[in-house]
Amino acid sequence: MENKSVIIVGAGLGGLATALRLSYQGYKVTVIEKQPKAGGRLNILEKDGFTFDVGPSFFSMSYEFVELFESINEPIPFELNELNPLYTVNIAGHDRVFQIYKDLDKLALEFKDIEADFETKARKYLLGAKEIFHDTEYKVVKRNFDSILQFLMSMATVPMKHLPKLFRTFWEELERHFDSEEVKIIFSLVAFFLGATPFNTPSVYNLLNYTELQHDGYWNVKGGMYKIVEGILPLLEKKGVQFIYNTEIVRVTESNQNLSGVVDQQGIEHKADIYVINADAAWFRGKFLNRPKFTEEKLDKLEWTLAPFTIYLGVKGQIPGIHHHNYFLGNNFKDYADTIFRSSVVPEKPYYYVNVASKSNPNCAPEGCENLFILCPVPDRRIKPNWDDADQLVDEIIEDLGNRVGFDIKNNILSKTVYTPVEWEQMFNLYKGSGLGLAHGLNQIGAFRPKNKDEKLNNLYYVGASTVPGTGLPIVVIGSKLVTERINNEYPII
Ligand SMILES: Cc1cc2nc3c(=O)[nH]c(=O)nc-3n(C[C@H](O)[C@H](O)[C@H](O)COP(=O)(O)OP(=O)(O)OC[C@H]3O[C@@H](n4cnc5c(N)ncnc54)[C@H](O)[C@@H]3O)c2cc1C
Repeated sequence: MENKSVIIVGAGLGGLATALRLSYQGYKVTVIEKQPKAGGRLNILEKDGFTFDVGPSFFSMSYEFVELFESINEPIPFELNELNPLYTVNIAGHDRVFQIYKDLDKLALEFKDIEADFETKARKYLLGAKEIFHDTEYKVVKRNFDSILQFLMSMATVPMKHLPKLFRTFWEELERHFDSEEVKIIFSLVAFFLGATPFNTPSVYNLLNYTELQHDGYWNVKGGMYKIVEGILPLLEKKGVQFIYNTEIVRVTESNQNLSGVVDQQGIEHKADIYVINADAAWFRGKFLNRPKFTEEKLDKLEWTLAPFTIYLGVKGQIPGIHHHNYFLGNNFKDYADTIFRSSVVPEKPYYYVNVASKSNPNCAPEGCENLFILCPVPDRRIKPNWDDADQLVDEIIEDLGNRVGFDIKNNILSKTVYTPVEWEQMFNLYKGSGLGLAHGLNQIGAFRPKNKDEKLNNLYYVGASTVPGTGLPIVVIGSKLVTERINNEYPII
């Protein structure tokens, strides 16, 4: 008997990780990808002698990658590298840069002048974050839900002591533990990874500080993040997985409560027994399945994560005052967070993140040069549809960064590429340019998030940022495990 065939639409990490799990179990997998190469947001840009990571530059929960490769009985095909310090924070008006260490003794030294008794406070804060992480990991994050009732029943088994956290914001939780504005700001930066601000993110997500500062820290990959994709591809090839690149699915066909095919831009229909959609799970349901719950009007009313505005700079010279991972913040944190994501004009004093991969991986820039990846979170295209004024923001950031690190970046640029939310939307079909997909408010997680199994069509599944459990590299790897479990149950290999 022929092995069951699976078409995966999209070669993002969610699609690739699912392809790995399924192909190693014996499913016959084909991946169809719009772009000329695999990776989705986890991509690479090679230009003018420089190599840039296009999207993700580090991740937490590295053990999820370890689990992925253990599950297929292969050694991990890239080298994990733990970040130390985790990152640095540069706050306007401060003449020092904060180095953020996982080692609490070292971190306490860093904060000793600004937060009395930091270490005791931090240990208490992190203990609360640790408890909620471990009390929810298997009850909320790492399992499939078939109904809202089942989800709520699982939530009800989470110890009651965490209940008040549902009614506080991320920032309010920090205020209960720390006095210094700087410590609160720094510990709240992780909320932006969820694509929101600490002022509208539920306090339960303080658990991310536990994952960052105690549990597993932050990691990247030796030689650049794209090594993840380059490590996965030969394994898929070994298992006979077919890739069809430069091919966008623009329509689907249905019959007898099944998806019967996906049709590309040339009108060619691709068929399989099972389909896994790695494109945005909410957008796909609206755009191709015409589901009333996912019309543009309904999607616009959901909470979406912030959009990325990214700049890739190749710079002549070595920039002294900058490290591998750096945040550059202004001195009006709350006002900025409150207004920036609702404003349709470019921010005047932008907050941004800079990754200088050449600091640890000299191969990604010509000798004597640096490569800079700059990420400025901005409103998505529901709020600011037009980015004709992108140059203004680029100039503002380059000017500010040059001043803050004491290096003439502007006059030493050898390579420059800019992706506004318009490009991000076009490249990977990200809904209105939202960088991380659907947000993670309590009404958009678990059974309230678009499911990884279609509501109507039996052989249709989803994986990736906007389905369960959510966004971020290790989380979509968990998502690939969850969707594989469903497929194994419903379409087992005989
Ligand atoms: C700028 C930026 C920085 C980030 N930084 C980090 C970070 O540091 N750490 C971290 O953990 N996470 C980070 N993230 C989030 C992380 O990149 C995502 O959560 C993750 O990569 C999502 O993977 P995915 O498989 O869900 O989707 P994607 O990577 O978007 O893959 C989906 C694929 O489907 C393809 N596709 C879509 N529609 C179609 C179609 N109709 N036909 C064919 N193909 C289609 C797309 O081209 C794409 O290749 C970042 C994201 C961005 C944008």
